Amino acid sequence: MTTIFGKIIKREAPADIVYEDDLCLAFRDINPHAPIHVLLIPKKAIARLADAQPEDQALLGHLLLAANKIARQLGVEGAYRIVISNGADAGQTVFHLHLHILAGRRFRERPS
Ligand code: 5GP
Repeated sequence: MTTIFGKIIKREAPADIVYEDDLCLAFRDINPHAPIHVLLIPKKAIARLADAQPEDQALLGHLLLAANKIARQLGVEGAYRIVISNGADAGQTVFHLHLHILAGRRFRERPS
């Protein structure tokens, strides 16, 4: 099923895109929880991390390295937090796998 993120990939919905390569796309969250709050998504439509398959191993690694690249690009490579919510009870609201890249403030608290 197409989500809003699928529409952003196809440029059918607007987004403030900060990074793109063959496999993934990153754009600023519409409702940021930190001064820098970027969503990084694979172009392949995987609903939840739990739906990733063994053949997605390279893609999942690619996403983490892309997150690192984006953090460098945004000047926050020294301190950033990655969050993935898997499933509605974990707070997932958009069912297209995404990494939250959060930075620009101190994160004293453990993820909750
Ligand atoms: P989740 O709650 O699934 O972990 O994260 C979904 C995130 O997507 C939320 O932080 C929400 O603010 C963001 N979001 C939802 N719809 C849109 C949209 O249309 N554009 C952008 N840029 N972010 C969105």
